[in-house]
Amino acid sequence: MCAIVGVFGAKKASTVAYYSLFAMQHRGQEATGISSANGEKIKLYKKRGMVADVFSQEALENLDGNCAVGHNRYSTAGSESQGDAQPVFAKYKLGEISVVHNGNLVNKQEVRNELIDKGAIFQTDMDTENIIHLIAKSQKDSLVDRIKDMLTKIEGAYCLAIQSRSKMFVIRDRYGIRPLSLGKLKDGGWIVASETCALDLVGAEFIRDVRPGEMLTFEEGKEPVSEQIFEPDYHPCAFEYIYFARPDSIIDGKNVYETRLAMGKQLAKETPADVDLVLPVPDSGVAAARGYAEGLGVPFEMGIVRNHYVGRTFIEPTQAIRDLKVKLKLSPIKHLIEGKRVAIIDDSLVRGTTSRQIVKMLKEAGAAEVHMRIAAPEIKFPCRYGIDTPTKAELISASHSVDKIAEKIGADSLGFLSIDGLVDALGRERTYSLVSFDGNYFAGGNADTPGCAGGC
Ligand code: AMP
Repeated sequence: MCAIVGVFGAKKASTVAYYSLFAMQHRGQEATGISSANGEKIKLYKKRGMVADVFSQEALENLDGNCAVGHNRYSTAGSESQGDAQPVFAKYKLGEISVVHNGNLVNKQEVRNELIDKGAIFQTDMDTENIIHLIAKSQKDSLVDRIKDMLTKIEGAYCLAIQSRSKMFVIRDRYGIRPLSLGKLKDGGWIVASETCALDLVGAEFIRDVRPGEMLTFEEGKEPVSEQIFEPDYHPCAFEYIYFARPDSIIDGKNVYETRLAMGKQLAKETPADVDLVLPVPDSGVAAARGYAEGLGVPFEMGIVRNHYVGRTFIEPTQAIRDLKVKLKLSPIKHLIEGKRVAIIDDSLVRGTTSRQIVKMLKEAGAAEVHMRIAAPEIKFPCRYGIDTPTKAELISASHSVDKIAEKIGADSLGFLSIDGLVDALGRERTYSLVSFDGNYFAGGNADTPGCAGGC
């Protein structure tokens, strides 16, 4: 998951990067970092924690220069290391370099083994370290050629921003799996960010999405230069629309909120429920629940209150803590629910923990019937392209029928959106990455490929 930002040609580039990362906090809360370049030197500041807590005024002022790249790291179970924060900085033959990455490389281990055989040493599990090594070890004369050389050796999902002391390079993989948008800053300069909500916050004008397989080069006094490095084979990630991206973001021309509404409406067509009320699991199910309620013609209520001061459910690694966290996070409005037949909508069901807790909570609050509806298809395969899904063994839909899951979570009924219905809601004009649902690992790797060990 994770977020990246690259700012070039701006007076206070690190401050612009800071606000952008703040807008994209939902993409990763474990660690954050920014590096800046002033033509002579790259400076780096990164730490575990949230954007607003990590950076002080002083830290930002110290990050001088007109170019900055930044990163929010998504937490993965068990990883506690500050060393896993990005950007990753290195000194190498041609000078200094700093890299941020969003995605997951499927051939990481092969590349790493080869590098280790040749004597390379690694300090983290991160893909980004592979990228730095490949650039440093390339025999090409210029950084741009070394980057192109490195790109021939990595496979999988990546959005990259690479900074030297005076230039910035931005690359999106040929499948365009993770989102990346280009904007123009009002006071001069350019910004590239994982989501358009970052552009909106800093007042940048959206120019276009970075194209799949494209590299953009930013250099002082010049317009960005675009090069199509790979033939595009466009497969944007459906899960960005389902769960991950912020509802106000526009990914490749489609507003996330509207696609979620459409998924909810489609869900109502495919798996209606005879209920008095439709409730969302806040906040992830809100848009889909509105669509579902509209589709059924049943009232929509925010019948569950979310405590915003608790991190996302997945942050804690053990099952016991995960169970408690759902309760800490969500509580029902009893008088709305008592005696009612309710449909409760969430965006996705992974292990089934959230659903089980919520059904129990609603029944304890006096609901007469609880019908769970999921505005996504059954997740049967781990995504290896940058969404942090657990192993196949932990995915409840990989080994249980819908009826069996309904029984396990204690719901009176359970329904999922079909894959076809999801594609209808997203629009049929392009092919999406649906790997979690259909197991089509089109960009390489398979269910056993390591996921986002170093944050994706
Ligand atoms: P689970 O409780 O394991 O079934 O997970 C489902 C819940 O987690 C839903 O409420 C989703 O909004 C949320 N969710 C889905 N995918 C992810 C993810 N990759 N990281 C964090 N939360 C997720």
